[in-house]
Amino acid sequence: RDGKMSARELVQDRLTHIQQSDLNAFIDVNPDLSLAQADAADALLQSGQATALTGIPIAHKDVFVTQGWRTTAGSKMLENYLSPFDATVVSRLQQAGTISLGKLNCDEFAMGSDSTTSYFGAIKNPWDPTRTPGGSSGGSAAAVAAGLVMAATGSDTGGSIRQPAAHCGITGIKPTYGTISRFGMIAYASSMDQAGPLARSARDALALLEAMVGFDANDPTSLSDCSGQPNTGARVREQFTQHQTHYEQQGEQPLKGLRIGVPDEFFNGNIDTDSAAAIEAALQLYESLGATRVAISLPLTQKAIPAYYVITPAEASSNLSRFDGVRFGHRAAEYTDLQSMISNSRAEGFGPEVIRRILTGTYVLCEGYYDAYYLQAQRVRRLIAQSFLSAFEQCDVIMGPVAPRPAPRLDHQESDPTADWRNDVYTLCVNLAGLPAMSIPCGFSQNQLPIGLQLIGNYFSEGQLLAIADRFQ
Ligand code: GLN
Repeated sequence: RDGKMSARELVQDRLTHIQQSDLNAFIDVNPDLSLAQADAADALLQSGQATALTGIPIAHKDVFVTQGWRTTAGSKMLENYLSPFDATVVSRLQQAGTISLGKLNCDEFAMGSDSTTSYFGAIKNPWDPTRTPGGSSGGSAAAVAAGLVMAATGSDTGGSIRQPAAHCGITGIKPTYGTISRFGMIAYASSMDQAGPLARSARDALALLEAMVGFDANDPTSLSDCSGQPNTGARVREQFTQHQTHYEQQGEQPLKGLRIGVPDEFFNGNIDTDSAAAIEAALQLYESLGATRVAISLPLTQKAIPAYYVITPAEASSNLSRFDGVRFGHRAAEYTDLQSMISNSRAEGFGPEVIRRILTGTYVLCEGYYDAYYLQAQRVRRLIAQSFLSAFEQCDVIMGPVAPRPAPRLDHQESDPTADWRNDVYTLCVNLAGLPAMSIPCGFSQNQLPIGLQLIGNYFSEGQLLAIADRFQ
């Protein structure tokens, strides 16, 4: 912002781009409301009361409920749903001065990795429109990468911020579970769902994260305390600054003393050569800045997939039971009694991937199967969290791939619907443990598709992660 363009002009300009864009990144816009927010921002800018985010155009993944825009979660079930309140993330970002340009398309109820399960159609990758932007926060990543907005919100249950950020060549961070309120974020798997920003750089992501983080009494899993420090955005900013200052003091070798753990299991032949090469080059760059590489082992990595795909459908089947055509959601036109009204409404309202998850979840929670599947998955989850903690005795940050390969083509067809599930292996293990992690762009494949590097930190280390990311950018 150099003062040459008012917030109103900026918003008008971006809204025109959104209208002309054929990426299918947006589900709903409300120009009058965005322009009213812009006028309020201009008043602050003129009175000298503006802060860093005043007048910055952003947009929200359509799983955050909003008063002025429809909230659909990418589903026919909520096609015309208008929320009576704003999600905490939405109101916090608005209070910080950002302007919302609308709601971003995503996989239905955030279930998916390709942004193809949305009722509102597939989203295109701005680097190559024949390819997926990743998912489920595909609209968020595509809109930021195409410059339609400066930053966006997303949600990450098993990689949905990090993987689309990687496929679109931008930066995304999922903070420690519990640091950002889930109030008003439509639930997929509550014990793993976590909001976070997607942006063009680590510093931009920090600016949003600072506004989003904080205790919220409306969310029972919201943290008031992070290892003895209050759960506030200021804590994240302070940690970032402390690390920056420390790195600057070390001169030519800013990252001297930083131990980067590289898990063997993340490079096990599943990853393609271009991605492995880009990640190797990034690791070498970090070494040239003074960091040292430590080989670590996360032996349960492959077990994370079945554990995740037992626990998340179980939670989803419970969370989505509220969409019955009575309290919430689409109601079928034809039915004979209450039972058929509910079942017809759900059969019409939910898409095939959501139905697959509900059925899986109901099955693993059945009496008789519960111990064998659900409880067993919870035990694996605990062991995975422990193996991360032992790894952090040997290193300060873990680095590796976000996804095994760059963005696939939109028309790619997997004969087995669970094949896509397996590609989430590097990201979903992090959600099982509740750790913070981010994705930063680290290079391109031979066919010019962006590749992401994943940084995983110990609990409450998001400021440090962002400072390490900032050294690369
Ligand atoms: N692709 C994963 C899934 O479908 C992750 C989704 C997410 O993080 N919301 O569950």
